[in-house]
Amino acid sequence: MSEYIIAVDLGGTQARAALCDQQGKILKRVTNPTNAAGGVEAVYQSVVTSIRQVAPAWARVRGIGVGAPGPLDPWTGVILDAPNLGGAINFPIKTRLEHDFGVPAFVGNDANLAALGEHRFGAGRGVAHLIYITISTGIGGGIIVDHQLFLGWRGFAGEVGHQTIDVNGPRCNCGNVGCLEVLAAGPALERAAREQLRAGRESKMRALVQDDLDRITGKMISQAAREGDSLALEIYERAGRYYGFGLINLLHNFDTELFVIGGGVALNAWEWIYPPMIQVLDQHALASMRQGVRVVQAQLGDDVGLLGAAALVSDQVKDTRFL
Ligand SMILES: [Zn+2]
Repeated sequence: MSEYIIAVDLGGTQARAALCDQQGKILKRVTNPTNAAGGVEAVYQSVVTSIRQVAPAWARVRGIGVGAPGPLDPWTGVILDAPNLGGAINFPIKTRLEHDFGVPAFVGNDANLAALGEHRFGAGRGVAHLIYITISTGIGGGIIVDHQLFLGWRGFAGEVGHQTIDVNGPRCNCGNVGCLEVLAAGPALERAAREQLRAGRESKMRALVQDDLDRITGKMISQAAREGDSLALEIYERAGRYYGFGLINLLHNFDTELFVIGGGVALNAWEWIYPPMIQVLDQHALASMRQGVRVVQAQLGDDVGLLGAAALVSDQVKDTRFL
């Protein structure tokens, strides 16, 4: 009989669950609202419901993998502090799931698990040393060292968005200054567009928002870039340079072979951010370390969280039990 894995991707608004095989094929999937307004028990119930909806009673299930927003303890499977998951504080999701379903459960930070997913099933298959970076409203990531997810002392490793790029830069939400995230995540690009337009800069974006600058979105910037708008292209050029310096820091620290870049902001603007990112790497990285290093787009799209959660289980569970 085949062996299955149940993967859960738990976000602030949606809980997704999938029944997967060992090769990372998704056989069945559901999406349910997280019901975060109902508190942490409501969030947990939406996870339980989602799992029941994808798991046939007959299935041999190796385990349940859950990707959740951090910070969390990946060894004990406790979500430490997640305001957007119904105010979860020290919520023992691993223990609860093991109690309710009778199979091993594993929990990981969502961006960390995305790295694992791309390593096992996506752009990083077979690559021993890679770093995954997701660039959207925030910047997160995961570090694979010698085919293993690098967790760090407490399991918090891979906060690639909170590396300092500019010591004189603006203050980040995390308390640090000049982080990659505060300089070049989606909101930073929108802010840059607004500031330039407010200062009187001409741009196709002005017409797109009918002069209401609060309506600037990342999509508008990429739309304007596609039409050759010089402001939009400048914003991406600058962001691409920031990403490039972020890659250099990581490369110099980890001797990484492959960078896998995901997230809506990066993938929608790939043709404009990629050249400056590579140019910075070529010009400023240690030549001996730059050689042979590749930077590629993520391949798994929206399924990266589910497949990462599945990879987490297949890494850690040897036996199977009936669900
Ligand atoms: Zn930060």
